[in-house]
Amino acid sequence: MLKPLSDQDCLKNPNYYKDLWTQILAEMRGVYGDSAFENWLSKISISHYVNQTVYLAVPSNFMRDWINSHYIEKIKGLWQYLDKSIVNVEVLIAKPQAIKGSSNIITNTSPEPGNDYLKSSIDQRFTFSNFVVGSSNEMAYAASRAVAESKNAVAEYNPLFLYGGVGLGKTHLMHAIANHISDSQPHKKVVYMSAEKFMYRFVQAIRNKNIATFKDCFGSANVLMIDDIQFICGKESTQEEFFHIFNHLIGRSQIVISCDKAPSDLDDIEDRVKSRLGWGLVVDIHRTTYELRIGILQSKIEQMGINVPQDVVEFLATKVVSNVRELEGALNKVVAYASIAKSPVSLDLARNILKDLIKSSDKVVTIGDIQKHIAHKYNIKITDLTAADRSKNLVRLRQLGMYVAKQITSCSLGDIGKSFGKRDHTTVIHALKKVEELLRNGELMQSEIDEVIRGLQM
Ligand code: ADP
Ligand code: MG
Repeated sequence: MLKPLSDQDCLKNPNYYKDLWTQILAEMRGVYGDSAFENWLSKISISHYVNQTVYLAVPSNFMRDWINSHYIEKIKGLWQYLDKSIVNVEVLIAKPQAIKGSSNIITNTSPEPGNDYLKSSIDQRFTFSNFVVGSSNEMAYAASRAVAESKNAVAEYNPLFLYGGVGLGKTHLMHAIANHISDSQPHKKVVYMSAEKFMYRFVQAIRNKNIATFKDCFGSANVLMIDDIQFICGKESTQEEFFHIFNHLIGRSQIVISCDKAPSDLDDIEDRVKSRLGWGLVVDIHRTTYELRIGILQSKIEQMGINVPQDVVEFLATKVVSNVRELEGALNKVVAYASIAKSPVSLDLARNILKDLIKSSDKVVTIGDIQKHIAHKYNIKITDLTAADRSKNLVRLRQLGMYVAKQITSCSLGDIGKSFGKRDHTTVIHALKKVEELLRNGELMQSEIDEVIRGLQM
């Protein structure tokens, strides 16, 4: 019998719970609205994770009771939805600085900022050398490397703005930049912070009347990186402060920002801030392709020094297509279970363990399925997707179909071309480029592609 994972077996990365919490907060904000978010939800911080229980922290008794009576069920439901191994969620009363715990602690608990607390928040495991590069992330990789390797105060572009969906490697790249600079140019002061923490520190600084220290800490940065900037949307004074710091630094220090969307798609942010964010180089990270997923799995397997058969690698790469974090999670889960059960990693084991995660049937999505789905969704005939008709709408849908096929099937460019009306692989490459361009200039939304993919996996 397989046993559930214990804490020691939990191979998840230390940011894992924090990242889930970030997603949950965003979802809760959508459900309960901005004012509930401002008044209550944004005050909850994540404390730690022990024994399948997530501990959240709030500053007062009153807040704890309020959260418990109004939001806890929803919060619990979302945690469990995102990670089935989570059994319980508890709310503690604690000043965030005072939360102590085991190595599972995810919040940065150091008290007020000195200069070195910034460094301690850099995860040394995230480097350029273990970032696997493919067509979906090569621009982001190259731009990040250029920033890290620049011997000048600022690289050619400033700020560098990285954006893309969750779990696609933004934070990894930012840490890689920090790690690279601290190795090769240790005299440079690198400041990395999530926007959430930026806000939190800012509020703390106001409360403790040491705003000057707060400003100093950023003002002297050679490289400032703010992760998940979307969090400051709607937070006027935090935005204001960020804007001052940004303006102060932009001429002489490198700034790197990450976000879940393009600057132009940010809501609830002042126009002047929005336009500043887009001043330098804006690069998006797309969803992974099948090849990249295989590459990432192989790289992780090598790092773990374990043996995973190729059919399992291919199974994971075809089944877990949403993002790299989930892909890693799936691999970790399979490996952990195999080790507990003292059995080799096999396809049967992987299927068995991931059956909850992978709700779709065992059937692998084919190009035919994609065509059927697109035809149905956009109300055209399947044969329109293989026909020679060059009307704009059909060309777009064909390109979309090829793009989705490249992302979620293991078919080669040649096979994809053939299935879309005997076109050759250069047409497919052109289609992929075209879709990326449409995504970049906002004529096509990533959410639309995600919807097609989700539909196929149901
Ligand atoms: P994001 O910040 O975009 O939500 P992360 O940087 O946290 O995503 O990435 C999620 C996980 O996936 C991390 O563990 C990261 O190391 C891994 N990851 C993402 N992209 C790659 C890649 N191209 N190569 C190797 N690992 C990756
Ligand atoms: Mg991130």
